[in-house]
Amino acid sequence: MATGTLPSRSQVEEIVRQVVTARLAGTHSGPPRLEVHASARHMHVSRQDLDKLFGPGYELTVDRPLPQPGNFAAKETVTLVGPRRRLISNLRILGPLRSRSQIELAFTDAVSLGYDDLPIRLSGNLDGTPGALVMGPHGVVELPNGLIRAAMHVHMNPQEAAHYGVKQGDLMKLRVAGDAAVTFERVHVRVDPSSRLGVHMDTDEANACGLSRAREIVLFK
Ligand SMILES: [Zn+2]
Repeated sequence: MATGTLPSRSQVEEIVRQVVTARLAGTHSGPPRLEVHASARHMHVSRQDLDKLFGPGYELTVDRPLPQPGNFAAKETVTLVGPRRRLISNLRILGPLRSRSQIELAFTDAVSLGYDDLPIRLSGNLDGTPGALVMGPHGVVELPNGLIRAAMHVHMNPQEAAHYGVKQGDLMKLRVAGDAAVTFERVHVRVDPSSRLGVHMDTDEANACGLSRAREIVLFK
């Protein structure tokens, strides 16, 4: 998929879309189905920054719900300005609001914006990451940091963690079989009672492994 600087991908192309729902044959008890989702570039925004970008007290509009309960793609988008005035426009905001703003880009997005070495981080681990200028319809926010490549991760609830024999913070592997078969070796485990079993990867990772044409997907220790 094209990731040029201007114009960015059209809004028609959803920011977070379900690329594939892979079925793990239910061999034994435990989770019958593993879902793998490719997250396109997006922004999580704080109350304070939303006020600056869209106006005081502004509330996000739900465009559609995302697989993890309570999360949604908003109708609102912003424009991101990189260090050499390169732009990414129509950057989708995901809700709900967070305590700190954060922007997740794929590697090719980051390069097109002017960052050759964007750090790979788990969500919320933002210290020492680069920032950017964000433009909304009401105003501009200069983020001192918050740009990351999101580390690949799997959401699961405690029962699913027990099924796989893993705990919060462990690393698992993900084998995507097909014509471009890839085994990812660093899939971070995130355990929460409200989670649905699902792997999140970015668009570059999904393209590299041919996710949309995967023949089999297996998550293992
Ligand atoms: Zn996630």
